[in-house]
Amino acid sequence: MTDYSERYPAEFADVDFETLAVRAGQQRTHEGEHAEAIFPTSSYVFRSAAEAAARFAGDEPGNVYSRYTNPTVRTFEQRLAALEQAEACAATASGMAAIYAVCMAHLKSGDHLVSSRSVFGSTNVLFEKFLRKFDIEVTYVDLLDLDSWRAALQDNTRVLFLESPSNPVIEVADIAAIAELAHQRDALLVVDNCFCTPALQQPLTLGADLVTHSATKYIDGQGRCIGGAVVGSEALIEPVVGVLRSAGPTMSPFNAWVFTKGLETLALRMKAHSDNALALARWLQKQPAVVRVNYAGLESHPQFDLAKQQQRHPGGVLSFEVVGGQQGAWQVIDATRLISITANLGDAKTTITHPATTTHSRLSEDERARAGIGDGLLRIAVGLESIDDIIADIQRGLAALAI
Ligand SMILES: *Cc1c(COP(=O)(O)O)cnc(C)c1O
Repeated sequence: MTDYSERYPAEFADVDFETLAVRAGQQRTHEGEHAEAIFPTSSYVFRSAAEAAARFAGDEPGNVYSRYTNPTVRTFEQRLAALEQAEACAATASGMAAIYAVCMAHLKSGDHLVSSRSVFGSTNVLFEKFLRKFDIEVTYVDLLDLDSWRAALQDNTRVLFLESPSNPVIEVADIAAIAELAHQRDALLVVDNCFCTPALQQPLTLGADLVTHSATKYIDGQGRCIGGAVVGSEALIEPVVGVLRSAGPTMSPFNAWVFTKGLETLALRMKAHSDNALALARWLQKQPAVVRVNYAGLESHPQFDLAKQQQRHPGGVLSFEVVGGQQGAWQVIDATRLISITANLGDAKTTITHPATTTHSRLSEDERARAGIGDGLLRIAVGLESIDDIIADIQRGLAALAI
């Protein structure tokens, strides 16, 4: 049997992000396959009864069952950990499973969680409907207001949670400052890094303790699979793994294989998404039917400098407000022919959605107004098509609006 591990290590020192994205975590079998192998197996065999006993007792390393470990999943975990500059990673069945596992591992009854107000809809439901059921207090604060983060902290605060940039109004949090507040109270800062991916932003290097991902979005990048991950130190990931092993929302080998392939092109794709989004944002700013454009790559964005410091590129998601309220926004959507009408994001295909009547329809009119989500607001997750074709499609919609 040939062992390739010495010639082709799975871990690297002193190589760049783009190299880790292509090489980290691959363990070659004795067949010497060039691409990553996929291991679609639920369980593993042992050479003897004694070996089985030793594996079950944890006295000997090795696989037992794929809810615990799987080589394809391990490759994905090691590669994503390398890209986030993290010690450890736990892959999950979805982005929500990642957030759920963090809550189960690091909160208990009587604890307090502080979250930014504008988080993903299901995250909000998880906090409101399920954490509260187990007597975990939740306080929501304005993502940008450090004083409100500080004022929300209590003796029993264990976790601070945020997304940056926020959805759909693209506010950019000062991650380092909020991490400092968390650590003054011995609490953990958890950042949902779904919009940026490690290609644009590495929250752990800014002081965050854990990062969650919906791999469903940019890590896959082509809208094929549902998955997620949590990354951080060994000490903080170990209890997360404990939850996943017992509760079961782990990643399938096939999905891990797709996501590993996604990571290989992540840096290239995130730059291309950002370039397209910036070109669209600049064009939208000049259109008379557009009242406001929210995109951190525009000099006019209130956190332009912070975003430039914190992120490698501004990202692929933007939003803009058109004249004519909901009717105007719907007219723009209905006039497009190329762009997909869907609330998904992080896909090669550009998507458009009307937050007030879809992703944020559960909020009251007051809550939406406070979050800056007007009836005329549209969110676009800019894809990888030609920017000229994307602009032409939006132009069709804007031309229909009376000004
Ligand atoms: C989609 C998304 C999630 C949830 O991910 P799933 O893979 O759909 O479970 C969490 N956070 C953000 C910011 C998202 O966009």
